[in-house]
Amino acid sequence: MELTFVGTGSAFNPVLENSNAFFTLGDRLYIIDCGETAFGKYWDLSALRDATEVTVVITHLHCDHVGSLGSLVSYCYLVLEKKIRIVHPLDTIVQLLDLMGIKRKCYEYLERIPQGPAEPVRFEPIRVDHVDDMACFGYIISAEGDAVYYSGDATTIPPQVLDAFRKGQIHHIYQDTSLVTSDHPTHGTLAYMEATFQREERKRVSCIHLDTDYRNLLGEKGFSLVKLI
Ligand SMILES: [Zn+2]
Repeated sequence: MELTFVGTGSAFNPVLENSNAFFTLGDRLYIIDCGETAFGKYWDLSALRDATEVTVVITHLHCDHVGSLGSLVSYCYLVLEKKIRIVHPLDTIVQLLDLMGIKRKCYEYLERIPQGPAEPVRFEPIRVDHVDDMACFGYIISAEGDAVYYSGDATTIPPQVLDAFRKGQIHHIYQDTSLVTSDHPTHGTLAYMEATFQREERKRVSCIHLDTDYRNLLGEKGFSLVKLI
C-alpha cells in the first residue's frame, strides 16, 4: 500500500499545499484528511469520480486537515451523487460539519470503520501528542497483509508503532516533521527523526507536513520522499 499525497506542506507553508493523502483499493477510495487545499486536488480526480465508495479518515480538526471537507462532502453528494463516509473517533467532526451547514444526510459518520470481510482496510486510531486543546489521532492502516503508519500532526511516534516497524509489521512510517525546533513543540522535528531512525531504516520513513521545502536535505539524510500528484 503506497500513499499518494496531494501536498506535503505544513499549515503555514501553502506553497507545498496541505499534507493530505489517499490510496485506492480496487474501486474504493480512501482519503486521509481534507485540508484547505485538498478539494482543489480531488474534485477532478478520476479516482474520486470512479470510486464506488469514498472514505475520508480524519486525524484532527485543524484547518489544514479539514478545511475543505465540507466542500468535498457537498460536491460528492450533490454533483457526483456519492454519499461518502467520514471516520473520526470523536463526533466533533459532525459538530463542525453542522456549523458549516453540511446536512447529516449528505454523509455517513463512523467513529471507526467496522471490521469484517466486507471491509478490506483497517484504520487503527492511536492518540498522539499534538496540541493541548484538541485530540489528534495517528493511524495504523492495514490492508492485504500490508501496514503503514500515518502520524497526523504529532511530536513523536508512539512506541508501539516503532516496535511494529522494527519487527517488520509496519513497513512504512509517514511522520509530521518540522525543520525548525520549538520550545513548545507541537510537531515532530528533523532532529527527532534523525535520532530515532538509523540511516538504513530511513528508506522506510517519509517526513510530511514540511514547514519549508527541505526535501533535498531529507533525501541527503536518506529519508524516503513521498509520491505526489
Ligand atoms: Zn494540527
